Amino acid sequence: MSAGDEQLKAGTSKEWNWHPDLPVAVTPLFSWPPRPIATLRWFVTNWLPITEYLIYALMAWAVWAWVVPPLEQMQHLSWGWVSQLWARNLILMTFFAQGLHLWLYGWKKQGDDFKFDRRGLAKNARVFLWNDQYWDNVTYALLSGVTVWTFYDVIVWMGYANGWAPMITFNSNPIWFLALFLLLPVLQSFHFYWLHRVLHVPWIYKRVHAVHHRSVSVAPWSGFSMHPVEHVGYMSLLLIFLVLPAHPTHFLFIGYSLALASATSHAGFEKLVLGDKAHLKVGSFHHQLHHRYFECNYGGPEMPWDNWFGSFHDGSPEATERVRETKRHMHSK
Ligand SMILES: [Zn+2]
Ligand SMILES: [Zn+2]
Repeated sequence: MSAGDEQLKAGTSKEWNWHPDLPVAVTPLFSWPPRPIATLRWFVTNWLPITEYLIYALMAWAVWAWVVPPLEQMQHLSWGWVSQLWARNLILMTFFAQGLHLWLYGWKKQGDDFKFDRRGLAKNARVFLWNDQYWDNVTYALLSGVTVWTFYDVIVWMGYANGWAPMITFNSNPIWFLALFLLLPVLQSFHFYWLHRVLHVPWIYKRVHAVHHRSVSVAPWSGFSMHPVEHVGYMSLLLIFLVLPAHPTHFLFIGYSLALASATSHAGFEKLVLGDKAHLKVGSFHHQLHHRYFECNYGGPEMPWDNWFGSFHDGSPEATERVRETKRHMHSK
C-alpha cells in the first residue's frame, strides 16, 4: 500500500520548506522478515541519550525525589498541594512550549532550517481567539490543558496516598519497573491512535477536534491547544495508574510524555540546531502530514498503528491522493 519504492532525500520541495527522507520512516520493530539492525538503530536514536523520553524519565525521577509533596499530605483534598501541582504543571508546560517557541519563532535562532511548513503562525485569522494563533494556542493549552492535566494528577496522587492505586518500587519489581518505561509509550500511542480516530468522526470533529486542527501550520503551543473535551480524553490515559501496578515515576513520566511532548511534536521543525553541529530531533513530520491532510497518520511513528489499520501517509503524492479520496468519502455521508 505504500506509494512504490521511490525514495526522496530530505530537503525542500514544492509543498514543503523542509521534509525528512521520504517515505516517512516508522518503527521497523514489526517488519517481516525482521530487520534487527534497523530496529536496533531505530531504538538507539529514539531512546538513548538526548532523546526526549530520557529527559522525561529523568525529570520524573527528580520531581518525585525532590518536589512532590509527602504522600500523607495528599490523602485529603486541600488547596495547598493541589495548587502546587497546578503551578508546577503550568511552569513546566510554559518552559517547554515557550522555550521552543522563542528559540524557533521568536528569536528565529535557526531561521527556516528544518522548518516543515513555509507558513508561520497565523495572524489576523478570524478562526483564532483575538485573531491570533499564538495567543489562542497559549490560552487553550494553559487554561484548559493544564487544568485538566492537574485534575487527573490530583486523582492519581490521592490514589497513591490512600492506597487505591497499586504501587511498586524498583526494589520490589526491578524488571517490571524498567519494562514499564518501554511498555507505557506503546500503550500511550495505542490510546492516542484510537481516541484520535474517534475524534475524526465528522460529528465529533466539528464540535471538538476542529479546535486543535485550526492550527494548520503548527508551532509548539499548538500541540496542547485542544478543546476541553479533547483534553479530558487525551489525558485520561493517566487513570491507568489506578489499576496498573507502577511507581509514581512512571505516572509522572507519562504525564510529561502526553503534555510536554505535544509541544515538541508540534514544533513545526524537524530538528533543533544547537551550536554548529548538535541537532536534537523535535518535530514529527508524521504528525505534520496529519495537520495538512487530516484523514491519515492518527498515531505516531513509534508504533505502526497507521500502517496496520490502513491510515498511513508516507509523504508521497500517491498517498495524498488516497487520503483525499478517504476524506471525500467520509464527508459525503
Ligand atoms: Zn486530528
Ligand atoms: Zn496535532
